[in-house]
Amino acid sequence: MECWVEGTDGSGYGVDHLPYGVFAPEGQDFRVGVRIGSSVLDLVPVLDDPMFSLPSLDPFLAHGPSRWAEVRSRLQELLSDSTHSMAVAPHLHALDAVSLKLAWTVGDYVDFYSSREHAENLGRMFRPDSDPLTPNWLHLPIGYHGRGGTVVVSGTEIRRPSGQRKPPSEALPTYGPSQRLDIEAEVGFVVGVPSSLGTPVPVDEAMGHVFGVVLVNDWSARDIQAWEYVPLGPFLGKSFATSVSAWVTPLAALDDARVPAPAQDPSPLDYLRESDRRGLDLALSVSLNGQVISRPPFAGMYWTPAQQLAHLTANGASIRCGDLFASGTVSGPTREERGSLIELSWNGTEPLTLADGSTRAFLEDGDEVVLSAQAGSVSLGEVRGRIVA
Ligand code: MN
Repeated sequence: MECWVEGTDGSGYGVDHLPYGVFAPEGQDFRVGVRIGSSVLDLVPVLDDPMFSLPSLDPFLAHGPSRWAEVRSRLQELLSDSTHSMAVAPHLHALDAVSLKLAWTVGDYVDFYSSREHAENLGRMFRPDSDPLTPNWLHLPIGYHGRGGTVVVSGTEIRRPSGQRKPPSEALPTYGPSQRLDIEAEVGFVVGVPSSLGTPVPVDEAMGHVFGVVLVNDWSARDIQAWEYVPLGPFLGKSFATSVSAWVTPLAALDDARVPAPAQDPSPLDYLRESDRRGLDLALSVSLNGQVISRPPFAGMYWTPAQQLAHLTANGASIRCGDLFASGTVSGPTREERGSLIELSWNGTEPLTLADGSTRAFLEDGDEVVLSAQAGSVSLGEVRGRIVA
Protein backbone atom coordinates (compact mmCIF):
# COMPACT_ATOMS: atom_id res chain seq x y z
CA MET A 1 0.00 0.00 0.00
CA GLU A 2 1.39 3.40 -1.02
CA CYS A 3 1.79 6.17 1.52
CA TRP A 4 1.94 9.92 0.86
CA VAL A 5 4.13 10.61 3.92
CA GLU A 6 7.70 11.16 2.70
CA GLY A 7 10.44 8.76 3.73
CA THR A 8 8.06 5.95 4.59
CA ASP A 9 9.18 3.47 1.92
CA GLY A 10 11.64 0.95 3.31
CA SER A 11 11.49 2.48 6.79
CA GLY A 12 9.88 -0.56 8.40
CA TYR A 13 7.01 1.71 9.46
CA GLY A 14 4.75 1.90 6.40
CA VAL A 15 0.96 1.86 6.08
CA ASP A 16 1.08 -1.93 6.43
CA HIS A 17 2.48 -1.57 9.98
CA LEU A 18 1.10 1.38 12.02
CA PRO A 19 2.21 0.48 15.55
CA TYR A 20 0.58 2.34 18.44
CA GLY A 21 2.40 4.31 21.08
CA VAL A 22 1.92 7.08 23.64
CA PHE A 23 3.83 10.27 22.85
CA ALA A 24 4.14 13.90 23.89
CA PRO A 25 5.43 16.78 21.77
CA GLU A 26 7.65 19.05 23.88
CA GLY A 27 5.67 20.86 26.57
CA GLN A 28 2.42 19.03 25.74
CA ASP A 29 0.44 16.17 27.29
CA PHE A 30 0.95 12.52 26.44
CA ARG A 31 -1.60 10.99 24.03
CA VAL A 32 -1.97 8.09 21.60
CA GLY A 33 -0.34 8.08 18.16
CA VAL A 34 0.75 5.70 15.44
CA ARG A 35 4.21 5.63 13.97
CA ILE A 36 4.50 6.26 10.22
CA GLY A 37 8.04 6.43 8.79
CA SER A 38 10.02 8.71 11.10
CA SER A 39 6.89 10.54 12.29
CA VAL A 40 4.11 10.06 14.80
CA LEU A 41 0.54 10.75 13.78
CA ASP A 42 -1.58 12.32 16.51
CA LEU A 43 -4.84 10.34 16.53
CA VAL A 44 -7.07 12.74 18.46
CA PRO A 45 -7.50 15.36 15.72
CA VAL A 46 -7.58 12.97 12.77
CA LEU A 47 -10.02 10.44 14.24
CA ASP A 48 -11.97 12.92 16.34
CA ASP A 49 -12.09 10.44 19.22
CA PRO A 50 -11.31 11.79 22.72
CA MET A 51 -10.32 8.27 23.85
CA PHE A 52 -6.97 8.85 22.15
CA SER A 53 -6.27 12.00 24.16
CA LEU A 54 -5.57 9.85 27.25
CA PRO A 55 -1.93 8.98 28.03
CA SER A 56 -2.59 5.25 27.54
CA LEU A 57 -3.79 2.65 25.05
CA ASP A 58 -5.90 1.01 27.79
CA PRO A 59 -9.38 2.16 26.64
CA PHE A 60 -8.60 1.32 23.02
CA LEU A 61 -7.39 -2.18 24.00
CA ALA A 62 -10.63 -2.69 25.92
CA HIS A 63 -12.75 -1.89 22.86
CA GLY A 64 -11.85 -5.19 21.22
CA PRO A 65 -11.15 -6.53 17.75
CA SER A 66 -13.88 -4.85 15.70
CA ARG A 67 -12.86 -1.36 16.84
CA TRP A 68 -9.17 -2.25 16.37
CA ALA A 69 -9.88 -3.25 12.76
CA GLU A 70 -12.02 -0.15 12.13
CA VAL A 71 -9.35 2.26 13.39
CA ARG A 72 -6.58 0.48 11.51
CA SER A 73 -8.48 0.53 8.24
CA ARG A 74 -9.39 4.24 8.64
CA LEU A 75 -5.75 5.14 9.37
CA GLN A 76 -4.58 3.18 6.33
CA GLU A 77 -7.07 5.10 4.20
CA LEU A 78 -6.00 8.49 5.62
CA LEU A 79 -2.30 7.74 5.08
CA SER A 80 -2.48 6.12 1.64
CA ASP A 81 -5.03 8.34 -0.14
CA SER A 82 -3.25 11.62 -0.86
CA THR A 83 -6.50 13.58 -0.95
CA HIS A 84 -6.31 13.45 2.88
CA SER A 85 -2.76 14.81 3.07
CA MET A 86 -3.71 18.48 3.53
CA ALA A 87 -5.91 17.66 6.52
CA VAL A 88 -3.68 15.01 8.10
CA ALA A 89 -0.11 16.29 7.53
CA PRO A 90 -0.34 19.06 10.17
CA HIS A 91 -0.83 16.33 12.81
CA LEU A 92 2.43 14.51 12.04
CA HIS A 93 5.21 15.06 14.57
CA ALA A 94 8.85 14.26 13.93
CA LEU A 95 9.79 11.24 16.05
CA ASP A 96 12.96 12.92 17.31
CA ALA A 97 10.91 15.83 18.69
CA VAL A 98 8.59 13.79 20.92
CA SER A 99 8.90 11.79 24.15
CA LEU A 100 7.51 8.28 24.43
CA LYS A 101 6.17 6.44 27.46
CA LEU A 102 4.95 2.94 28.26
CA ALA A 103 1.93 2.59 25.96
CA TRP A 104 -0.43 0.67 28.24
CA THR A 105 -0.93 -0.41 31.85
CA VAL A 106 0.73 -3.80 32.11
CA GLY A 107 -1.47 -6.22 34.05
CA ASP A 108 -0.27 -9.68 34.93
CA TYR A 109 3.00 -10.66 33.32
CA VAL A 110 3.88 -14.25 32.47
CA ASP A 111 7.19 -15.33 31.00
CA PHE A 112 7.54 -18.62 29.14
CA TYR A 113 10.51 -20.81 28.19
CA SER A 114 9.47 -21.91 24.72
CA SER A 115 12.68 -22.13 22.69
CA ARG A 116 13.87 -25.71 22.63
CA GLU A 117 17.41 -24.60 21.77
CA HIS A 118 17.49 -22.20 24.74
CA ALA A 119 16.15 -24.83 27.15
CA GLU A 120 18.63 -27.43 25.86
CA ASN A 121 21.57 -25.00 26.11
CA LEU A 122 20.74 -24.22 29.75
CA GLY A 123 20.15 -27.89 30.48
CA ARG A 124 23.58 -28.81 29.08
CA MET A 125 25.24 -26.09 31.17
CA PHE A 126 23.53 -26.81 34.48
CA ARG A 127 22.67 -30.51 34.33
CA PRO A 128 25.50 -31.92 32.17
CA ASP A 129 24.89 -35.46 33.37
CA SER A 130 21.20 -35.71 32.52
CA ASP A 131 18.84 -35.11 29.60
CA PRO A 132 19.10 -31.40 28.61
CA LEU A 133 15.30 -31.11 28.66
CA THR A 134 13.35 -31.72 31.87
CA PRO A 135 10.70 -34.49 31.52
CA ASN A 136 7.83 -31.97 31.28
CA TRP A 137 9.36 -29.72 28.62
CA LEU A 138 7.95 -31.43 25.52
CA HIS A 139 4.48 -31.72 27.10
CA LEU A 140 3.76 -28.18 28.23
CA PRO A 141 5.02 -24.63 27.69
CA ILE A 142 6.88 -23.96 30.95
CA GLY A 143 6.44 -20.48 32.41
CA TYR A 144 6.38 -18.43 35.60
CA HIS A 145 4.37 -15.46 36.84
CA GLY A 146 6.50 -12.32 36.70
CA ARG A 147 6.03 -8.78 37.92
CA GLY A 148 3.84 -6.51 35.74
CA GLY A 149 4.66 -3.41 37.81
CA THR A 150 8.34 -3.43 36.86
CA VAL A 151 7.84 -3.59 33.10
CA VAL A 152 9.49 -0.43 31.74
CA VAL A 153 9.56 1.26 28.37
CA SER A 154 12.52 1.14 26.00
CA GLY A 155 15.13 3.74 26.89
CA THR A 156 14.69 3.36 30.65
CA GLU A 157 18.03 2.98 32.45
CA ILE A 158 18.44 -0.37 34.17
CA ARG A 159 19.94 -0.16 37.64
CA ARG A 160 22.14 -3.14 38.42
CA PRO A 161 20.16 -5.18 40.95
CA SER A 162 21.53 -6.32 44.28
CA GLY A 163 20.56 -9.53 45.95
CA GLN A 164 21.66 -12.70 47.65
CA ARG A 165 24.08 -14.82 45.72
CA LYS A 166 26.35 -17.68 46.64
CA PRO A 167 29.12 -18.70 44.27
CA PRO A 168 29.87 -22.45 44.47
CA SER A 169 33.29 -21.55 45.93
CA GLU A 170 31.73 -19.82 48.97
CA ALA A 171 30.20 -21.48 52.03
CA LEU A 172 27.60 -18.79 52.73
CA PRO A 173 25.58 -16.29 50.67
CA THR A 174 26.32 -12.56 50.63
CA TYR A 175 24.21 -9.56 49.59
CA GLY A 176 25.49 -7.25 46.87
CA PRO A 177 25.31 -6.11 43.24
CA SER A 178 24.76 -8.87 40.69
CA GLN A 179 28.00 -9.91 39.00
CA ARG A 180 26.22 -11.90 36.30
CA LEU A 181 23.71 -9.50 34.78
CA ASP A 182 22.24 -10.83 31.54
CA ILE A 183 19.68 -10.15 28.83
CA GLU A 184 16.95 -12.34 27.37
CA ALA A 185 15.76 -11.45 23.85
CA GLU A 186 12.06 -12.24 23.74
CA VAL A 187 8.80 -11.48 21.96
CA GLY A 188 5.83 -10.35 24.06
CA PHE A 189 2.09 -10.50 23.41
CA VAL A 190 -0.33 -7.86 24.71
CA VAL A 191 -3.77 -9.16 25.69
CA GLY A 192 -6.78 -7.08 24.66
CA VAL A 193 -9.77 -9.41 25.09
CA PRO A 194 -10.19 -10.78 28.64
CA SER A 195 -11.43 -14.26 29.58
CA SER A 196 -13.70 -15.45 32.40
CA LEU A 197 -12.45 -16.98 35.61
CA GLY A 198 -13.01 -20.73 35.47
CA THR A 199 -13.12 -20.97 31.68
CA PRO A 200 -9.95 -21.96 29.80
CA VAL A 201 -9.23 -20.23 26.50
CA PRO A 202 -9.36 -22.82 23.67
CA VAL A 203 -6.07 -22.95 21.78
CA ASP A 204 -7.70 -22.17 18.41
CA GLU A 205 -9.33 -19.04 19.88
CA ALA A 206 -6.28 -17.84 21.78
CA MET A 207 -4.88 -15.38 19.25
CA GLY A 208 -8.29 -13.66 19.11
CA HIS A 209 -7.48 -12.38 22.62
CA VAL A 210 -4.21 -10.76 21.54
CA PHE A 211 -4.02 -7.12 20.48
CA GLY A 212 -0.38 -6.85 19.54
CA VAL A 213 3.28 -7.63 19.82
CA VAL A 214 6.24 -5.96 21.54
CA LEU A 215 9.90 -6.87 21.82
CA VAL A 216 10.92 -7.75 25.37
CA ASN A 217 14.28 -7.71 27.14
CA ASP A 218 13.83 -9.87 30.24
CA TRP A 219 16.88 -8.65 32.20
CA SER A 220 18.15 -11.49 34.39
CA ALA A 221 20.61 -11.57 37.30
CA ARG A 222 22.01 -15.07 36.84
CA ASP A 223 23.82 -15.23 40.20
CA ILE A 224 20.71 -14.18 42.16
CA GLN A 225 18.59 -16.53 40.03
CA ALA A 226 20.91 -19.53 40.49
CA TRP A 227 20.80 -19.28 44.30
CA GLU A 228 17.08 -18.58 44.70
CA TYR A 229 15.28 -20.62 42.05
CA VAL A 230 15.15 -24.11 43.57
CA PRO A 231 12.42 -25.36 44.07
CA LEU A 232 9.90 -22.62 43.17
CA GLY A 233 11.44 -20.91 40.15
CA PRO A 234 12.57 -17.39 39.20
CA PHE A 235 11.92 -14.57 41.68
CA LEU A 236 14.15 -11.56 42.45
CA GLY A 237 16.68 -12.45 39.75
CA LYS A 238 14.02 -11.44 37.20
CA SER A 239 11.61 -8.98 38.82
CA PHE A 240 13.81 -5.86 39.05
CA ALA A 241 13.07 -4.75 35.46
CA THR A 242 11.70 -6.00 32.14
CA SER A 243 11.97 -3.67 29.14
CA VAL A 244 9.44 -3.51 26.30
CA SER A 245 9.29 -1.48 23.11
CA ALA A 246 7.45 1.84 23.09
CA TRP A 247 5.58 0.79 19.92
CA VAL A 248 2.97 -1.96 20.02
CA THR A 249 2.66 -3.66 16.64
CA PRO A 250 -0.93 -4.76 16.00
CA LEU A 251 -1.17 -8.49 15.37
CA ALA A 252 -2.98 -7.57 12.13
CA ALA A 253 0.27 -6.09 10.78
CA LEU A 254 1.97 -9.49 11.08
CA ASP A 255 -0.50 -11.56 9.02
CA ASP A 256 2.14 -12.18 6.34
CA ALA A 257 4.66 -13.30 8.98
CA ARG A 258 2.49 -16.19 10.20
CA VAL A 259 4.36 -19.34 9.20
CA PRO A 260 3.92 -23.02 10.09
CA ALA A 261 5.44 -23.74 13.52
CA PRO A 262 7.82 -26.71 14.02
CA ALA A 263 6.24 -30.16 14.22
CA GLN A 264 5.79 -31.47 17.76
CA ASP A 265 6.83 -34.93 18.84
CA PRO A 266 5.32 -36.20 21.08
CA SER A 267 1.99 -34.79 20.01
CA PRO A 268 0.72 -32.49 22.78
CA LEU A 269 -2.44 -33.12 24.79
CA ASP A 270 -5.73 -32.15 23.11
CA TYR A 271 -6.06 -28.74 24.78
CA LEU A 272 -2.70 -27.75 23.26
CA ARG A 273 -3.34 -29.18 19.79
CA GLU A 274 -3.92 -26.51 17.15
CA SER A 275 -5.87 -26.99 13.93
CA ASP A 276 -3.48 -24.63 12.12
CA ARG A 277 -0.23 -24.36 13.99
CA ARG A 278 1.45 -21.00 13.34
CA GLY A 279 4.46 -19.15 14.62
CA LEU A 280 5.71 -15.73 13.57
CA ASP A 281 8.65 -15.30 11.24
CA LEU A 282 10.44 -12.50 13.11
CA ALA A 283 14.18 -12.06 12.63
CA LEU A 284 15.52 -10.67 15.92
CA SER A 285 18.79 -8.86 16.38
CA VAL A 286 20.71 -8.23 19.61
CA SER A 287 23.22 -5.36 19.76
CA LEU A 288 25.66 -4.68 22.58
CA ASN A 289 27.25 -1.20 22.52
CA GLY A 290 26.34 -0.84 18.85
CA GLN A 291 27.66 -4.23 17.74
CA VAL A 292 25.35 -7.04 16.64
CA ILE A 293 26.15 -10.06 18.80
CA SER A 294 23.26 -12.35 17.88
CA ARG A 295 20.39 -12.86 15.41
CA PRO A 296 17.79 -15.13 17.08
CA PRO A 297 15.07 -16.54 14.79
CA PHE A 298 11.57 -16.47 16.32
CA ALA A 299 9.98 -18.75 13.68
CA GLY A 300 11.57 -21.85 15.23
CA MET A 301 9.94 -21.53 18.67
CA TYR A 302 8.61 -24.93 19.77
CA TRP A 303 5.56 -23.63 21.65
CA THR A 304 3.41 -21.04 19.87
CA PRO A 305 1.81 -17.98 21.52
CA ALA A 306 -1.59 -19.65 21.09
CA GLN A 307 -0.38 -22.70 23.03
CA GLN A 308 1.13 -20.44 25.69
CA LEU A 309 -2.18 -18.64 26.24
CA ALA A 310 -4.19 -21.87 26.19
CA HIS A 311 -1.85 -23.35 28.78
CA LEU A 312 -1.81 -20.23 30.94
CA THR A 313 -5.62 -20.48 31.27
CA ALA A 314 -5.89 -24.30 31.26
CA ASN A 315 -6.58 -24.33 35.02
CA GLY A 316 -9.34 -21.74 34.68
CA ALA A 317 -7.12 -18.75 35.46
CA SER A 318 -8.49 -15.69 33.67
CA ILE A 319 -6.64 -13.10 31.62
CA ARG A 320 -7.31 -9.38 31.70
CA CYS A 321 -6.99 -6.59 29.20
CA GLY A 322 -3.39 -5.36 29.44
CA ASP A 323 -1.83 -8.65 30.49
CA LEU A 324 1.53 -9.40 28.89
CA PHE A 325 2.94 -12.81 28.14
CA ALA A 326 6.42 -13.28 26.72
CA SER A 327 7.89 -16.14 24.73
CA GLY A 328 10.99 -16.86 26.74
CA THR A 329 14.50 -16.35 25.40
CA VAL A 330 14.61 -16.84 21.66
CA SER A 331 17.59 -18.96 20.64
CA GLY A 332 18.30 -20.71 17.36
CA PRO A 333 20.47 -23.77 16.69
CA THR A 334 23.76 -21.93 16.01
CA ARG A 335 25.97 -19.94 18.36
CA GLU A 336 25.21 -16.69 16.46
CA GLU A 337 21.50 -17.20 17.18
CA ARG A 338 21.59 -17.38 20.98
CA GLY A 339 19.37 -14.85 22.75
CA SER A 340 21.19 -14.50 26.08
CA LEU A 341 24.76 -13.82 27.22
CA ILE A 342 24.81 -16.90 29.43
CA GLU A 343 24.45 -18.95 26.23
CA LEU A 344 26.66 -16.72 24.06
CA SER A 345 29.49 -16.93 26.63
CA TRP A 346 28.60 -20.51 27.63
CA ASN A 347 28.12 -19.67 31.29
CA GLY A 348 31.04 -17.25 31.20
CA THR A 349 33.62 -19.79 29.98
CA GLU A 350 33.80 -18.38 26.41
CA PRO A 351 33.58 -14.56 26.71
CA LEU A 352 32.65 -12.53 23.62
CA THR A 353 35.27 -10.20 22.17
CA LEU A 354 33.78 -6.84 21.18
CA ALA A 355 34.98 -4.53 18.40
CA ASP A 356 36.86 -2.33 20.91
CA GLY A 357 38.89 -5.37 22.01
CA SER A 358 37.14 -5.72 25.37
CA THR A 359 35.51 -8.99 26.38
CA ARG A 360 32.13 -9.72 27.92
CA ALA A 361 30.72 -12.71 29.71
CA PHE A 362 27.97 -10.63 31.36
CA LEU A 363 26.95 -6.94 31.29
CA GLU A 364 29.14 -4.17 32.68
CA ASP A 365 27.95 -0.79 33.94
CA GLY A 366 27.45 1.56 30.99
CA ASP A 367 26.72 -1.25 28.52
CA GLU A 368 23.77 -0.61 26.23
CA VAL A 369 21.69 -3.40 24.73
CA VAL A 370 19.28 -2.89 21.81
CA LEU A 371 16.86 -5.53 20.56
CA SER A 372 15.24 -5.13 17.16
CA ALA A 373 13.27 -7.37 14.81
CA GLN A 374 12.18 -7.53 11.21
CA ALA A 375 9.24 -9.32 9.60
CA GLY A 376 9.24 -8.62 5.86
CA SER A 377 8.70 -4.87 5.50
CA VAL A 378 7.73 -4.48 9.18
CA SER A 379 10.31 -3.45 11.82
CA LEU A 380 9.21 -4.01 15.39
CA GLY A 381 9.87 -1.11 17.75
CA GLU A 382 13.32 -1.48 19.31
CA VAL A 383 14.00 -2.13 22.99
CA ARG A 384 16.95 -0.15 24.33
CA GLY A 385 18.42 -0.27 27.81
CA ARG A 386 21.65 0.92 29.45
CA ILE A 387 23.03 -0.55 32.66
CA VAL A 388 23.82 1.88 35.47
CA ALA A 389 25.62 1.04 38.69
MN1 MN B 1 12.70 -14.76 30.24
